Amino acid sequence: AAKPDPLLVVDGVSRSFGGLTAVHVEHLEIQRGTITSLIGPNGAGKSTLFNVLSGFDKADSGTWTFDGRPATGRAAHRMARRGLVRTFQLTKTLSKMTVLDNMKLAATGQRGEQVLPALLPPLWRRQEKEITGRADELLERFRLAHMRDEYAGTLSGGQRKLLEMARALMVRPTMIMLDEPMAGVNPALTQSLLGHITDLRDEGMTVCFVEHDMDVVMGISDWVVCLAEGRIVAEGPPSSVAKNPAVIDAYLGK
Ligand code: ADP
Ligand code: MG
Repeated sequence: AAKPDPLLVVDGVSRSFGGLTAVHVEHLEIQRGTITSLIGPNGAGKSTLFNVLSGFDKADSGTWTFDGRPATGRAAHRMARRGLVRTFQLTKTLSKMTVLDNMKLAATGQRGEQVLPALLPPLWRRQEKEITGRADELLERFRLAHMRDEYAGTLSGGQRKLLEMARALMVRPTMIMLDEPMAGVNPALTQSLLGHITDLRDEGMTVCFVEHDMDVVMGISDWVVCLAEGRIVAEGPPSSVAKNPAVIDAYLGK
């Protein structure tokens, strides 16, 4: 393997809900340019860890750095600007916007949308054109171009998954966190989503994704981290993690 080059370094991060420790991670490193899968049974803390590291939730303790700089407790929009984004399922509100507007919103966020066009019309128009160009490029790549001006709510389940991924790429992230991108998707589309994920890695992006189906992740992961009851119980290359007794226990225990 290549020399370690961690993009995300996590130390002693914990998050509790009431009396329940959802996450307690002593140490975790995500290597730049890899596909790292986070596996584990339901309730293991995978989504909570994603939320904390991407700035959508607060840790109770611990520290982490992203791209060599402190990132502990930074808000999601700041992390996005620094190149770390996570995907979210399409909400009701977003369903009532067109596919293109979904893409544009992902680039600008909610902040400054009214302010910028009012204060700096020429700059805004140039930026708007750039953003639309980027959106169209990505819609093409994810085969959604024909749905550009339709309401996002009219997309099929699989197309929604593609849009979620495309949205996240609007900010040209260094690292993308995908929470169960394949959930509820048919096998053909699963293959296509896995292809997109591999392509992103091959282009140099760091991908971290949550998936509870071990078979799905084994083929494409460079590294696999298994969480159970909030703790890392095993990590390593997919072949070694697949036969690790702690991992087998974690799955059979549920
Ligand atoms: P996973 O994504 O691995 O299925 P989660 O991170 O969603 O697991 O949940 C980990 C644990 O934390 C679960 O026991 C879950 O019920 C609990 N949990 C997650 N979010 C909340 C919350 N907002 N309030 C209370 N408990 C939560
Ligand atoms: Mg989850």
